[in-house]
Amino acid sequence: MSTLLTPASNNEKEPSPEKEITFKEFLESTPKDSLKKITDLIYYNPNNGDFILNMPDIAIFCDDDKCNGIRIFRHQNDNSIYQLPAKEDCFVKYICSNCQKTQKTYSLYILIPNKHPRQPHTPQNGYAYKYGEFPVFAPHTPSRVFKIIGPDREMFLKGRRAESQGLGIGAFAYYRRVIENQKHRIFDEIIKVAGLYPDTEELVSQLKQAKTETQFTKSVEDVKKSLPQSLLLNGHNPLTLLHSALSEGLHAKSDEECLELATAVRVVLAELAERLSEALKDEKSLNDAVTKLIQTKTAKNSK
Ligand SMILES: [Zn+2]
Repeated sequence: MSTLLTPASNNEKEPSPEKEITFKEFLESTPKDSLKKITDLIYYNPNNGDFILNMPDIAIFCDDDKCNGIRIFRHQNDNSIYQLPAKEDCFVKYICSNCQKTQKTYSLYILIPNKHPRQPHTPQNGYAYKYGEFPVFAPHTPSRVFKIIGPDREMFLKGRRAESQGLGIGAFAYYRRVIENQKHRIFDEIIKVAGLYPDTEELVSQLKQAKTETQFTKSVEDVKKSLPQSLLLNGHNPLTLLHSALSEGLHAKSDEECLELATAVRVVLAELAERLSEALKDEKSLNDAVTKLIQTKTAKNSK
């Protein structure tokens, strides 16, 4: 399908999105329902008079076991699909260049402004609207966070999407719900780590007691002893940090203020999940090393 470009009609107003971005940025990090002016959306092909979509390679998170990190994805469509009339709906498909398994599909609306200059082979601007993408857009969340929040993964991801779209009140409410729901899991992990350290009997008993409170904020108030050094974030107790953010009333805050609080809650929760995981890993490495040395010693003595 080689459709010759016909410019948008004269009486049609150009949309007015805020800021120009690259096509790569648009695909990688723009939430759905966004219209953007794209600096390098198309180029003109003098051989057939078409504008062609200037498909970039993109760098997004691949969650395949083999990758589990940011990888380059390449577009898969036959080139002819990118030959455009002035306004067009289109699907573009990407695949991870590393595992060749993970796919990403975008549903877009492309608008090429009226009287667009026809400079051969040079990327030119245009407008793109993102109807959506599959899998859905959500900035990467470390797997340790999912481990600590367990069954509330979907609720957390809703919060993450709300946060990335600047919906502060929504993001904050989702994160608060996740932490309240998963209070027991969070406390259980902290109790496990606290028990690894000497002289923490009183702390462990306070944590166990606090766990039984119905509200997270009330639970945190019950823990008077300080947490092990390895769990502190810049010297601060992560539970106290979460407490001060979560006890702020939503009604008194603007959407922007809620967004800042939501981001703070997410960052602290992720960092706490990371510290807990590291502490348990260190303990396992230590146990493995001790077991290994004891076995070596026993083997030597029995010779
Ligand atoms: Zn991959």
